[in-house]
Amino acid sequence: MIVDLRSDTVTRPTPGMLEAMATADVGDDVYGEDPAVNALEAEAAALFGKEAAVFTPTGSMANQIGLQLLVRPGEELLADVKAHVVNFEMGAAAALGGISTRTWAGEHGRVDADLIEPLINRPNPYVTVTRAIAVENTHNIGGGTIQPIEELRRLKDFADAYGLGLHLDGARIWNAHAATGTPFADYGRLFDTVSVCLSKGLGAPVGSLLITDAERAQRARVIRKRLGGGMRQAGFLAAAGSYALANHIDRLTEDHARAQHLARSLEPFGICDAAQVETNIVLVRIPEIAKVAAAAADQGVKISVLGADWGRMLTHLDVDDAGIEHAVKVLGTLLGK
Ligand SMILES: *Cc1c(COP(=O)(O)O)cnc(C)c1O
Repeated sequence: MIVDLRSDTVTRPTPGMLEAMATADVGDDVYGEDPAVNALEAEAAALFGKEAAVFTPTGSMANQIGLQLLVRPGEELLADVKAHVVNFEMGAAAALGGISTRTWAGEHGRVDADLIEPLINRPNPYVTVTRAIAVENTHNIGGGTIQPIEELRRLKDFADAYGLGLHLDGARIWNAHAATGTPFADYGRLFDTVSVCLSKGLGAPVGSLLITDAERAQRARVIRKRLGGGMRQAGFLAAAGSYALANHIDRLTEDHARAQHLARSLEPFGICDAAQVETNIVLVRIPEIAKVAAAAADQGVKISVLGADWGRMLTHLDVDDAGIEHAVKVLGTLLGK
């Protein structure tokens, strides 16, 4: 038995999803003529109560388009110190967007408006002016942390007061919604640009969206083409996304329950804290984790190594209860109980 807990990106399309892909009505999306892409973009925009959405190959591209829409070259973005946009997009904000970044250090990646406000540089001839703030929800490296909606509202209040843009890296906004019941439109209302991933917990093979207003979406299409993200019969991929939106959001609570069960089962070994597991990500602290991970992989259990003594495990569409039991058994034996 193989149980791959390294990421929620490792899922394979289900038979129903493959069927939707195979029967998609497609056209050339660079000409705006792909019915399946147009349908997905309209569904996503409606879900978040926004005017428009733009389909992209990856979440990184959706994020970078969002940032370029809000921040001009030589201006500044504020983000969490462990944010995906800062750490895992290969310096794209600087390399491609000319965007300067400064960071705050939130506890478990949680947004704290009081940490952010003092960082804002107001327009003045001697400073790099702050133009936007990026928020990640759920926060990946923070451990699947949910951003409390009240704190996001506080952020929106002072972003408005200072005239700053707000970008949501919502690669896992689905998980925040599944855990809290907060409507997607409540998030949509607070942010100027929203990126979402269809290829994480929702189980599509490829695809993300940048969701925003109509005017920004038009500019987003130009930036997407510039970045090499203009795709042709992309409707085969968009159909997987539409299928995922219709069928794979509600089931995320199952992933959360399995992550809770995994964390509670491993807690006696002193490697994790189940109380901190809010969604589908379990952070673990294990001395010499690389050795443990290699030994677990030999027995079919794959976990992600993120540092000398820490890593993570994620639940997703392709992990069932038997898989979790197997992982607990294998890791429990390796950890010595
Ligand atoms: C996965 C992820 C992305 C996008 O990643 P891609 O691999 O480029 O699709 C963006 N933000 C977060 C927080 C992620 O976890």
